[in-house]
Amino acid sequence: MLSCWRLTPTLCLSTRHRSGFYCRTASVQSPVNGDQNKNGEEKKKKIVIVGSGWAGLGAAHHLCNQGFDVKVVDDGMVLVVLMILVDELGIEPFTNWMKSVLYSEGGLEVEFPIFQDLPQLPTPLGTLFYTQFNRVPLVDRLTSLALMAAVIDFDNTDVAWKKYDSITARELFKHFGCSERLYRDVIGPLLQVGLFAPAEQCSAAATLGILYYFILAHQKNFDLVWCRGTLKEKIFEPWMDSMRTRGCEFLDGRKVTDFYLHTSRTCQEQAVVLCSAALCTWEKEFLKVSNLSCIDVISVKLRFDKKVNIPNASNACSGFGDSFAWTFFDLNQIYDEHKDDPVTVLQTDFYHANELLPLKDEHVLAKVMSCLSKCIKEFDTASVTDKQIRRFPKSLTHYFPGSYKYMMRGSTSFPNLFMAGDWITTRHGSWSQEKSYVTGLEAANLVVDYLEDGSFAKIIPVEEDEAHIETLRNLNRRFNEIREQAPLSNYFLQ
Ligand SMILES: Cc1cc2nc3c(=O)[nH]c(=O)nc-3n(C[C@H](O)[C@H](O)[C@H](O)COP(=O)(O)OP(=O)(O)OC[C@H]3O[C@@H](n4cnc5c(N)ncnc54)[C@H](O)[C@@H]3O)c2cc1C
Repeated sequence: MLSCWRLTPTLCLSTRHRSGFYCRTASVQSPVNGDQNKNGEEKKKKIVIVGSGWAGLGAAHHLCNQGFDVKVVDDGMVLVVLMILVDELGIEPFTNWMKSVLYSEGGLEVEFPIFQDLPQLPTPLGTLFYTQFNRVPLVDRLTSLALMAAVIDFDNTDVAWKKYDSITARELFKHFGCSERLYRDVIGPLLQVGLFAPAEQCSAAATLGILYYFILAHQKNFDLVWCRGTLKEKIFEPWMDSMRTRGCEFLDGRKVTDFYLHTSRTCQEQAVVLCSAALCTWEKEFLKVSNLSCIDVISVKLRFDKKVNIPNASNACSGFGDSFAWTFFDLNQIYDEHKDDPVTVLQTDFYHANELLPLKDEHVLAKVMSCLSKCIKEFDTASVTDKQIRRFPKSLTHYFPGSYKYMMRGSTSFPNLFMAGDWITTRHGSWSQEKSYVTGLEAANLVVDYLEDGSFAKIIPVEEDEAHIETLRNLNRRFNEIREQAPLSNYFLQ
């Protein structure tokens, strides 16, 4: 049973934004760390972080380093999975770089090499040249080139997001002349394992953002490493242990249900970071978040009675006519604990799994086996000896067309309340888990700024655009500026 957790650190109401309350006034001096309480103990400023995913732990990590009293509250449903961080923690959770492949209904469709091992070509030539397309003809592949115009135009600014967010990924590819075959067998499935929903349900802005970040910006961007065990065991537990040694308290299994608004002076020494959109229903200002939606995932770990030859550890697959896309990972090649297993152990994740979620376990298993056999025939003769089926309803952010306007910024009109997670807008340019971690660090910096104490976390920017992309972007910006000055430029629907 979930217990109810009431936050004692309270949210301050600021005269700058609301009437009748106050918190932060120039006349009240904020006490700094190092003040003494009645018992002569050091009084630390208090931070409550709600959620212990990448965003919450990212914020906690930096705020602990600043010597604050940090408490992380989580309702116990930690879902998951960054090179600088793991170096800092002194852990080695990742595999070496690995190749990955994409299966479509027709069989092995695309093989992605380890791009950084190959001679560097200017973007996007490396991606196009080195990726091995086993079935899609060259003429279809070339139809993707025109899309570079949109990639150049989409510079991750607010204006770019607003321009592209109202159309679907499918419309975008159609508009830029992508072939049906390339869209159906390659781009659609890849998008669905990146944005988790079918391309006709994804925002074109999110599509351009994720395509650029994971594939197009630099040749090596598509290279992948995997965690050599569960995220929890390999990263989150050692990370949380290292924060515990610095005084951070983790209150697991506590669901935050309520917030208190106070105007007291203590507000100045406290801050709250919320890392779940689901918590934003208690205040009118945040209600727009209720318009966001989330995607269902099913994760299935299987142990077989024999070793099946799986050529590649990391495999993405289209839905074979279903509305989901899925991935399967050969855990014998990825997890330390399964390296020497005499039998195959693998994990499959089904995204946009609405139609699988209500099925009984045996039906889910039948579906998984049918999907696996379509990719690797040998699964027809293998039997499952152990299974773990985990359902994650509404657990992934859905970047649907028009969703950008419902996303929030990291700061709110409450001066001591901050937000972090992959549903927060950021100009950093990263995606998925890295985006959550970065927004966590950005929230930590907002806390440091608010408390006027501690130093700012250094957030490493995404690698700069290659010179030819930067030049094209500058030219494109100038062209857009001239176009905006033309008569009636704002009259027609953009
Ligand atoms: C099966 C699966 C596979 C995935 N695979 C990948 C992958 O390969 N690569 C990738 O980049 N991304 C992947 N993702 C997505 C990735 O997990 C998310 O992008 C990331 O977890 C988001 O982190 P976050 O901190 O923003 O949110 P979350 O991880 O969702 O953390 C929010 C936390 O807040 C807690 N919480 C919510 N409400 C309350 C409350 N009322 N009180 C207390 N606590 C609360 C939740 O329990 C949760 O722990 C996967 C997700 C799933 C489910």
